[in-house]
Amino acid sequence: MFLTISTTGDEKNPATDLGFLLHKHPDNTQAFSTSYGTAHVVYPQADTEGCTAALLLEVDAPALVRKGRGKGRGGAPDAALAQYVNDRPYAASSLLAVALSSVFSTAMRGVCQARPERARQPLPLRVEIPALPARGGAALVRRLFEPLGWTVTAEPVPLDAQFPQWGDSRYVGLVLESAELTLAEALRHLYVLLPVLDDAKHYWVSADEVDKLLRAGEGWLPGHPEQKLITSRYLSRRWSLTRQAMERLELLRLAEADDSEVEEIDNAVEEDSEAEERPTPLAVQRRDAIIAALGESAAARVLDLGCGQGQLVQGLLKDPRFTEIVGVDVSVRALTIASRRLKLDRMGERQASRVKLVQGSLTYTDKRLKGYDAAVLSEVVEHLDLPRLPALEYAVFGSARPRTVLVTTPNVEYNVRWETLPAGHVRHGDHRFEWTREEFRAWADRVAERYGYAVEFTAVGPDDPEVGPPTQMARFELSTTTTIGTKEEKAA
Ligand code: SAH
Repeated sequence: MFLTISTTGDEKNPATDLGFLLHKHPDNTQAFSTSYGTAHVVYPQADTEGCTAALLLEVDAPALVRKGRGKGRGGAPDAALAQYVNDRPYAASSLLAVALSSVFSTAMRGVCQARPERARQPLPLRVEIPALPARGGAALVRRLFEPLGWTVTAEPVPLDAQFPQWGDSRYVGLVLESAELTLAEALRHLYVLLPVLDDAKHYWVSADEVDKLLRAGEGWLPGHPEQKLITSRYLSRRWSLTRQAMERLELLRLAEADDSEVEEIDNAVEEDSEAEERPTPLAVQRRDAIIAALGESAAARVLDLGCGQGQLVQGLLKDPRFTEIVGVDVSVRALTIASRRLKLDRMGERQASRVKLVQGSLTYTDKRLKGYDAAVLSEVVEHLDLPRLPALEYAVFGSARPRTVLVTTPNVEYNVRWETLPAGHVRHGDHRFEWTREEFRAWADRVAERYGYAVEFTAVGPDDPEVGPPTQMARFELSTTTTIGTKEEKAA
């Protein structure tokens, strides 16, 4: 398996800068042992006009070692590797990706102290991989690389050059060219997309692969038209991992998104919920459950408390039953993103009159929040320190006092079902606590009793017979008796 990366240059920007950017000196032949074998970096060309770095992989599997030695790898690496690729196709690209990330890890992060400005600038780049396993063929290769700014030449490799009648193999000879990308971007594209094309399923995809994918995909994967295919193949079609990666990508993209992108995500999410084999993201199931519950309560004027980046507000706006929607959040950044997502500044007058975003903290009573039909606290309570929770309870149930309150929160029991969560971890870095079903019920029952509400519980997401659903929802309805206080306080 081998790959070359080339660039061109001139006196001012010599091509040999590639050596600095890759942190591998062009004059040396270097070998790096990785867990799978030895990776060699050599420079077939290194001068001012042109510089090529080649990464060769010598795989440390007994059969291969035998073959490789027998055929004289040094003399004809291409042929020897092609042999390997034919025998053990699944291994090749994931190994190359591992080698890329271990040999060029600094370059992949775009760090170069010697030539910092060059590391940040796009370079004329040419990447060549003579035999790349590509499930989906040349057409898929183009769909993956072209949106990223590459000019793609992908030629199917015949199964056997001497017997053209046998047709093509699943390999392509790939040449990628671009002058729009930095070296770090190029390496990160390869790191993710080579194993995706290989569609390898032989290795155990562990939970940290989601993090690796998101790190390597930063800046280009959110918004890639084949984002779903890339994510699911990269994670070997493990749907729970894929779903989590998709949710996180959605958030990343929202954080970066300009308005036009926001629209695409929502379409992507909707498509996603239609695709049978792909489970609907939990965030979408949650929004659907909330909107259904608000409908049952016949709420028209709704508060979304802790509205975050405005996904629910947007869902509510699409539904004419909701005549007035107020999103409240303490985070100005979240509200800015929400406002962009909703295109508040370009909304027609009628739509604009239905929606408002306000900054405020839910632990303080707020006159602006009084008189609404319903309030939603979707995945918010767990962001407060427990000692601050009674302040929120009073501000919402005691002061704002809408007829209906919906509260959703993670069910911590379900965490054992998230494959990416190490045991004992909460789902989000900012969660101050996560409740079991019993803890949530106890809290909700106490709040309901104190503030004169009746409460019912619903599961959101798959209701696991053992550990329950991933999200739990409580629906509070104001009782006819409207006094506030515990039984004891009322008796007193
Ligand atoms: N409701 C959204 C966002 C949940 S994340 C959803 O379901 O996706 C929690 C949100 O609560 C964050 O946006 C955070 O800024 C907000 N938040 C946390 N503490 C808050 C407080 N005291 N007052 C108002 N908003 C708060």
